[in-house]
Amino acid sequence: MESLEAELDRARDLSVDELADAIESIGFECTRCGGCCTGYAPDEPGGAPAGAGSGERDDDGDTADPNNGDSGCHDEREPHTATVFPDEVRRVADAAEESFGESYDWRDVARPMPFGLSEAPDGEPAGETFEWALATDDCGDCTFYQESDGQGACAVHDSRPLICRTYPFSVALDGTSQPMGEAVDAEGVVRAHECEGLGRDISREDAAELAAALKQRAVRELEEAIGVRDTYDPSAGERADGDVVVFDSEGPKNADGTPVGDD
Ligand code: SF4
Repeated sequence: MESLEAELDRARDLSVDELADAIESIGFECTRCGGCCTGYAPDEPGGAPAGAGSGERDDDGDTADPNNGDSGCHDEREPHTATVFPDEVRRVADAAEESFGESYDWRDVARPMPFGLSEAPDGEPAGETFEWALATDDCGDCTFYQESDGQGACAVHDSRPLICRTYPFSVALDGTSQPMGEAVDAEGVVRAHECEGLGRDISREDAAELAAALKQRAVRELEEAIGVRDTYDPSAGERADGDVVVFDSEGPKNADGTPVGDD
């Protein structure tokens, strides 16, 4: 594997025009199915299509079941996991505060990425992780996902993280993240992952916008990986407030996003 710095150079050298050519050739239009914003079944890596498990939201943001009045959440689904960078957590919190007129703190937006964590005797997660994931609701769906009449929408659309702006695409560079599941299409360095919107016509303008975000995401992911490597502190767990430490590019943090102290 190339060094992260070499991969970062490659990401910075990516041609947005060539990425846009690849996206145009693969084709994509978001159908607002909600598949990339919701919990998923193991055999359904793209997530649950709108209406295939989640009903419409009730007043407290849960998903209401029109038949029996309880949560109506699909069981047997894994919670949605989408990586969010630390600066994006703050931006999403600001956007949510503006949209909903109430205060949003770190934990309202992000949770420690569960992969690699173990379970403490009290059933709570424990260990070290190296990413934040968007927070999920009782149904395992992104807390910012809204649905009505079978159409999904994002409550923080203009401030949504890069991973959301660029789904279902990724670039094939070491050190960048790939959505779950095998790529279903590829063109040059661009990979396309399970999504019902693939193969649809896309305008050059939209392809160019997506391509620019895809390049930005690849650069950002590698910068984040380098930052995590450089700020990693193996003794942080001894000073943490709880059983979980999240190492992001800003240094070790507690599960609520506060920095782990020095002593
Ligand atoms: S932030 Fe918005 S686009 Fe991203 S997963 Fe949540 S609802 Fe979907």
